[in-house]
Amino acid sequence: MPELPDILIYLEQLQTRVVGQRLEVIRVVSPFLVRTYDPPLKMAEGKRVLGLERIGKRIVFRLEEELFLVLHLMIAGRLHWKSPGANMPRKAGIATFCFSNGTLLLTEAGSRKRASLCLVRGGAGLEQYDPGGLELLDSDLESFRKTLAKENHTLKRALTDPHIFSGIGNAYSDEILHRARLSPLKRTGQLDPDEVARLHQAGQETLRLWIERLRRETGSGFPEKVTAFRAGMAVHGRYQKPCPDCGAPVQRIVYAENETNYCPNCQTGGRLLADRALSRLLKQDWPRSLDDLEEIKRTARERNRTAPMPAPAAALPVPDRNPTARFSDRVDNYVRYRPDYPDAILSCLGREAGLMPAWVIADVGSGTGILSAKFLKHGNVVYAVEPNDEMRAAAEKWLRGNVGFISIKATAEGTTLSAGSVDLIVAGQAFHWFDQDRARMEFLRILKPRGWVALLWNTHKMDSTPFMREYEQLQQTFSIDYQQVDRRNITAESLGKFSPYLQKRTFPNAQEFDFEALKGRLLSSSYAPLPGHPNFEPMIAELERIFARHEIGGAVRFEYETELYFGPLRQD
Ligand SMILES: [Zn+2]
Repeated sequence: MPELPDILIYLEQLQTRVVGQRLEVIRVVSPFLVRTYDPPLKMAEGKRVLGLERIGKRIVFRLEEELFLVLHLMIAGRLHWKSPGANMPRKAGIATFCFSNGTLLLTEAGSRKRASLCLVRGGAGLEQYDPGGLELLDSDLESFRKTLAKENHTLKRALTDPHIFSGIGNAYSDEILHRARLSPLKRTGQLDPDEVARLHQAGQETLRLWIERLRRETGSGFPEKVTAFRAGMAVHGRYQKPCPDCGAPVQRIVYAENETNYCPNCQTGGRLLADRALSRLLKQDWPRSLDDLEEIKRTARERNRTAPMPAPAAALPVPDRNPTARFSDRVDNYVRYRPDYPDAILSCLGREAGLMPAWVIADVGSGTGILSAKFLKHGNVVYAVEPNDEMRAAAEKWLRGNVGFISIKATAEGTTLSAGSVDLIVAGQAFHWFDQDRARMEFLRILKPRGWVALLWNTHKMDSTPFMREYEQLQQTFSIDYQQVDRRNITAESLGKFSPYLQKRTFPNAQEFDFEALKGRLLSSSYAPLPGHPNFEPMIAELERIFARHEIGGAVRFEYETELYFGPLRQD
């Protein structure tokens, strides 16, 4: 995706070519391109270009009569400058803007047409296109610090979120973090003042450096080689190539079609980023589709505002990989097909920890509420703490009739609960997502003096039956990052570090599944590829074969071991 330096060079070269010129004709090929109909695009024709502006990654042409053409290139949109009257190339050409001195051609490679063009009347109409991110280049350290402090995200996410910073995407965020010697997974809330200053300086230096480089490379020509992967980048697009500063091979974090590159030596104290940190990222903090999201939200807003919409359905593209819908699918499968916890855990906690209905429970990482429900039924007041909106909404829908149920949007590291307010903290299928050091501090804060912790996992068995063995093999073969996300990364050692007083008990657990349910169970895993991923079809075909081999009376038995670790966090 063209980012700030690329957009700036486009603007500089457009400045000398189109400002002062009359936009004679606009020809649009792709029905997906134009997202507004009032004023009609025709109105822009015959108007003179008075100036150019940038809003985030968008290019704005200021025309006569207070008209503004807003162009967003998204990932694959590119501009080209051709001779006057040049033809539209059949391949990839989606629009031409004809001036008397030349033709501005817009192309978009690939089948996903996501670039957008809007015509807006009046400067006030432009505001809706401004996600509001800080312009890093113009910012002083104080405004940068305040912007970073607004939300607690991974640095990768914060830098690439257009609502936080303007114009920075996957490529330059990698470069900035390398220059700042900071991990892409470090959270904004964890930065000390020196690191904030370093990031600010690295951000400005990186952007300036690349603007200068691209400017020199382009000269007086039109930028024709706009790409996210440039020779001279330190880490971005350079997986396994030597870091220019230390020679260590550049590493990557891959998720779906996105990739973050970093040097472990320079940025992460030699650590490879995987397992817990990566899992958290996959769950809630990956920047992959912010532009998608922005686009979807805006399209929806426009649809509401301008109804009835006379345009054909094709004019309102629905991106085929809508991340929100994809996650909704998972949540739905999660609610329907994830196993409950055996009642034996309550009697065990009653016997060994003194659990009573009067206890106040904090279910941290409560997800869709499976464990909360257990304690509500037992008579407890349950604070269900869950950062993910979709999961929390599912729990609220299901459990809102229970008087003891209190749903809270917060994280394990910052629950927002009062100090000394909780008798027992439980985490079902969630502890491996936590930042354990910070969660421990937070747990100590909210627990009463003799408070307890109970960590639970339903772990599907890997080789208890031929069916479970083949299912495990299938996950190994087709999953995205199965190894890294696997909760088995939690070791006795890491649990002992969290609290040396934890005891372990295990309980047998199982579910009976027909094929649809088995499929739903598989797709509820965060590492399972969803429809649209190349692994999806072959994975489902294999699942069908496995089911056919092992079903008895139309069902298979899905076996778990429920592991319960419980104990006081601190021995008083
Ligand atoms: Zn290095």
